[in-house]
Amino acid sequence: MKDVIVAGGGPAGAGLAYRLARKGMSVLLLEKSSFPRFKSCAGGITLKVMRELDFDLSPVIEDEITRFIFTANLEGPVETVTGEPAVYTVNREKFDAYLLQKAAAAGAEIITGVPIRKMEAEGGLFCVNAGDSCFRCKIIAGADGANSMVARSFGLAGKKIFGATLECRLFLPPEKEARFRGTIHVDYGILRQGYAWVFPKSSSLSAGAGATPGSPVEIRTALKKMLEALDLKETEMLLPERGWVLPFHSSPQQLHRGGVLLLGDAAGLVDPFTGEGIYNALKSARLAAAVIEEEIRRPYPDLRGYSALVKKEMGPGFSAAWRLVRLLSGRASIYHRLLQRHPGLAAKFLELLAGRINYPHFLRHCLNLLIREGLHLPQRT
Ligand SMILES: Cc1cc2nc3c(=O)[nH]c(=O)nc-3n(C[C@H](O)[C@H](O)[C@H](O)COP(=O)(O)OP(=O)(O)OC[C@H]3O[C@@H](n4cnc5c(N)ncnc54)[C@H](O)[C@@H]3O)c2cc1C
Repeated sequence: MKDVIVAGGGPAGAGLAYRLARKGMSVLLLEKSSFPRFKSCAGGITLKVMRELDFDLSPVIEDEITRFIFTANLEGPVETVTGEPAVYTVNREKFDAYLLQKAAAAGAEIITGVPIRKMEAEGGLFCVNAGDSCFRCKIIAGADGANSMVARSFGLAGKKIFGATLECRLFLPPEKEARFRGTIHVDYGILRQGYAWVFPKSSSLSAGAGATPGSPVEIRTALKKMLEALDLKETEMLLPERGWVLPFHSSPQQLHRGGVLLLGDAAGLVDPFTGEGIYNALKSARLAAAVIEEEIRRPYPDLRGYSALVKKEMGPGFSAAWRLVRLLSGRASIYHRLLQRHPGLAAKFLELLAGRINYPHFLRHCLNLLIREGLHLPQRT
């Protein structure tokens, strides 16, 4: 019998298993894929992710980002250069395997290549069916991603809003190194409610586009245009385009029921403005670990403290981020004009990414600039 069974071995699941094992709890993590496994992701790691983890990520860092090039519908590039790396990139195949290794080294039991098929409550405990076995535990932590089976099985996390994405990996040829090394390219006018990106890795590029809501045809066209504009159309493709979803919630939801809780993408905790999800996956793991540590001593753990903590710690940020999304969606030209005329805005955005300021602060900054510029928000373009 385990104290906790964690469903899913992405950053949320590995982060939670690591923390619980370090606190001396018996933890089993069940992951359906064999690792290393592919995960569609640009692999951007912000400085606040580094602060969430108490171990060194340098073995899996692919590139250090010190230059950002923002365009609106592929025009008017605004370049921001930072003295220190403001973002790092990783390959999720290696990054996720590394986090799992850390969880195993901390004492968590990890079984990969075995999907969870069913979960049943049994007299205050749970029986988690995977492979031919029933694994028993007091608490189930659902870290099984955007289409979480744990969420569906226990009727949790309400109705998610799904963003659609396409991502491909390109070989980074030596003659293109100078242009792409250490540089993130983002275009946010190319899609009405989304953006396209190119993120560098050590010898490859992640290129993609995503939107909420997003039609696959528009997203594919946006990605094609981005590749053309950056002269990457003929570049060798290492992995063809693959689609995946980004799960969001418009407001904080109940993320627990009795001894079951959800974290990361399973809980719909992706940042609606940037699409960043790794940080919130790790942060929700930290909040869950604190509540589980308290509750595991009770015969019937009650995890309501976790839903309350997520609401308190993340709710204000999510509501300000959604206000920004509503303010700026379809109005890329306005945001871009602010960026062109106020270099401080890009610096503020990087402070937001680093976690040095929060969304309410960044929202106020944007609103003040709009007022100072006398910009009345016109019809959406
Ligand atoms: C195209 C794209 C680009 C992105 N770029 C970024 C970025 O640059 N930076 C960033 O921070 N975020 C990014 N994100 C978001 C980020 O990838 C996710 O938010 C993050 O992976 C969430 O981690 P997680 O552990 O909650 O879920 P996941 O990483 O999805 O892990 C869930 C795990 O659960 C396993 N699983 C599922 N079902 C079962 C089952 N029945 N039994 C056992 N295991 C199961 C899956 O195999 C998977 O390993 C991007 C997402 C997309 C789609």
